[in-house]
Amino acid sequence: MIRARWVTRFVLLVLSSTSPFVLSGCETNPYTGRSQLLMTSVSEEMQLGAQAYQQVKNDPKVHQSQDSREVEPVKRVAVRIIEAAKRSKYAEMAKQFQWEVTVIKDDKTMNAFALPGGKIAVYTGIFPVAKTEAGLAAVLGHEVTHALARHGAERMSQGELTNAALQVVGAAAGASGMNPTLSQGAMAALGAGAQVGVLLPFSRSHESEADYIGILLAADAGYDPRESVHLWERMEQLSGGGGPSEFLSTHPGHETRIAQLKKWMPEAMGIYQARQPVPAADLPAISAR
Ligand SMILES: [Zn+2]
Repeated sequence: MIRARWVTRFVLLVLSSTSPFVLSGCETNPYTGRSQLLMTSVSEEMQLGAQAYQQVKNDPKVHQSQDSREVEPVKRVAVRIIEAAKRSKYAEMAKQFQWEVTVIKDDKTMNAFALPGGKIAVYTGIFPVAKTEAGLAAVLGHEVTHALARHGAERMSQGELTNAALQVVGAAAGASGMNPTLSQGAMAALGAGAQVGVLLPFSRSHESEADYIGILLAADAGYDPRESVHLWERMEQLSGGGGPSEFLSTHPGHETRIAQLKKWMPEAMGIYQARQPVPAADLPAISAR
C-alpha cells in the first residue's frame, strides 16, 4: 500500500508539473484544525466534480424533476446555504465554485450530494427525511461541507483509492482533449458513488466535520440548527429501505452523532439567534416508499 501510494503521488506530481504552485500537500481544516493530505488543486477538483456531475445528469436512469413544488424549496434552501458558505471560513473557495443545483425525481432514493466545485444533487426520496426546509438545510449544510472541506479530494489522496485516483488522474489529464468517462471508483471518491452503485461512505472524521460545519452553515443561513438532530433521528428510523445513499452506512454511529450535535449546538444557536430566522415550510409529499 505504501508503494501504491507513492505511485499515486508520482502520477499526481507529474500531472501537476505544469502548474507546480497549485500542489497543496498538507492543509489544515480551518474549523477543526485537522490536518489533511491533498494532492490535487482546487481547480483540478472542480473540473473532476463538473465532469462527474455531467455524468450523473447524462445517466439515462436520472430524471430531473420539473415540478416547481419540488424544485423551488430545494433551490431556495441551497441559495441560502451557498450565501452562508460565501461568508464562512471557506468564503474564498465558495466564491470560486460554480454552484449548480439539480433535483432528481427518485422517490425511493434517500440521498443528496455535493461534488467538488459546488455541484449539488438532491433526490426527492430525501424529502420525507428532511421533512421541512430547515431539515433540508441540515442535509445541504452537511453535503456542501463535504465539497468545501475537500473530503473527496482527500479520499483521492489517501492511497487506499489508488486505482480510483489513477483513473481520475487519467481523466483529468485527458480532459483538455478527449474528456474520457470517469470510472465508478472515481465517481465514488468524488461523492457520486450512489449514482453508479458504488457505495463509499465518508470516514468518521469527514462525517463529523460535515455535521459540525454543516450546522454552522445552516444556522448562518437562518435555519434552526436543532433540526439537524431531528433529521438524523428520522434518518435512523427511515434508513431501512430505498436505493443507495451516503446516509445508509453512516459514520459515526447514531448515538455518537446525536451526542456530538448536541455538544456543538450552543455555538450554532449563537449564530442562529443573531440571524433573521427564515420560514421553514414543509417539503412536498412524495409517493409512498
Ligand atoms: Zn456525509
